[in-house]
Amino acid sequence: MSSNNGSKKDVLLEVKGLKMYFPITKGIIIQKKIADVKAVDGISFNIKHGETLGLVGESGCGKSTTGRAILQLYRPTAGSVRFEGKELTEMKGETLRRQRREMQMIFQDPYASLNPRLTVGNIVGEPLEVHKLASGKERQERVQELLKLVGLNPYFVNRYPHEFSGGQRQRIGIARSLAVNPKFIVADEPISALDVSIQAQIVNLLEDLQANLGLTYLFIAHDLSMVRHISDRIAVMYLGKLVELTDHITLYEDPLHPYTQALLSAVPIPDPYIEEKRQRIVLEGDVPSPTNPPSGCNFRTRCPRVMDICAEKDPEWKNMGTPENEHWVACHLY
Ligand code: SF4
Repeated sequence: MSSNNGSKKDVLLEVKGLKMYFPITKGIIIQKKIADVKAVDGISFNIKHGETLGLVGESGCGKSTTGRAILQLYRPTAGSVRFEGKELTEMKGETLRRQRREMQMIFQDPYASLNPRLTVGNIVGEPLEVHKLASGKERQERVQELLKLVGLNPYFVNRYPHEFSGGQRQRIGIARSLAVNPKFIVADEPISALDVSIQAQIVNLLEDLQANLGLTYLFIAHDLSMVRHISDRIAVMYLGKLVELTDHITLYEDPLHPYTQALLSAVPIPDPYIEEKRQRIVLEGDVPSPTNPPSGCNFRTRCPRVMDICAEKDPEWKNMGTPENEHWVACHLY
C-alpha cells in the first residue's frame, strides 16, 4: 500500500499491516489454540510530526489495543511499526526501554491509573528515576516544573491522588507522561471519564502542550464529538479494521463510509434549527465477535447499504481524495 498521508519526510510514525491477535486456548495440561481474537486486523496509517490523529470507534473495536501495540506494550502478531524510521517490532530489552522514553501513554481513568499510596511527587518523579534522568533535588525541581506545566500548584508534591478532583488527577497523569520528554503520546480516551465541563479544559491543556513542546498525539475516543476539536485527521475503526481516514473537516462534511455516517448522525449539532432536522441512523444488531468476524466487509451485518459483493470480498482501502487531500475509505460503494 502506498503512504496514506503525505510526504515521507514529515512522518513520525508509520504503521503498516498491523495485526494484534490474542489466542484462545483450551485444555488444562496441554493448552491448544482453538481460535484467535482478532483485536486489530491489518491496519495501516501514518502520523506526521506535530500532528494529532484521532482514532474513533465503539468500545471493543480495537482502538486501545492499537495504541498499546504501537507502543509495544503488546507485541504485535504481524505488521510493522516504524518510529522515525526505526522498526519497533524488532526492538528488545534495553534498546526498546530507551525507545519507550520517546513514546508515552495517557490513560482513560485518572482514578485507576495513579497509585493511591504514592504522593504526587513520587508519581510524577518515578519515570525520572526509572530512566535515570534525575534524582534528589534535581528530580524535585523537575517534578515542580512539570506540575506547573500542566496547571497544578507545584507545592502539591506531597499530596496524594485522593486529594484531587478528576480533572486534576488527569493533569497529574499528563505530567507523569511528560516527565521523560516524549515526542509521541497515545492518549487513550483521556477525557471520557471526566465531567463535560472539565473535558474542554483537558483538551485545551493537551493542545497547549502540543504547541509548546512539539508533541504528536494519537488521540483515542469512542465518539466523534470528542475528537473533532483536537484532531487534524481522524481515523474511524470498526471491528479491528480502519474504515475511513481523512482530515477532520472532510470527515464531518463529507463522510463516505456508512459506519462513519451512522456515528456522525449521533453527534448533536449546536445549531437548534439544523439539530431539529438531524436524522439519526440507528444501526441494527450488535457488533459481531472479533473471534469470528463476518466474511468480506466486516460491517456488512449492520450496514444499511449492504450489497451482494459485500459478503464475498473484503473492500480495498482506497484513496478517494487527491494526493494532497487524502480521503481513505474501505467500502464497495466507492
Ligand atoms: Fe456496507 Fe458493503 Fe460498504 Fe461494507 S462494503 S460498508 S457492507 S456497502
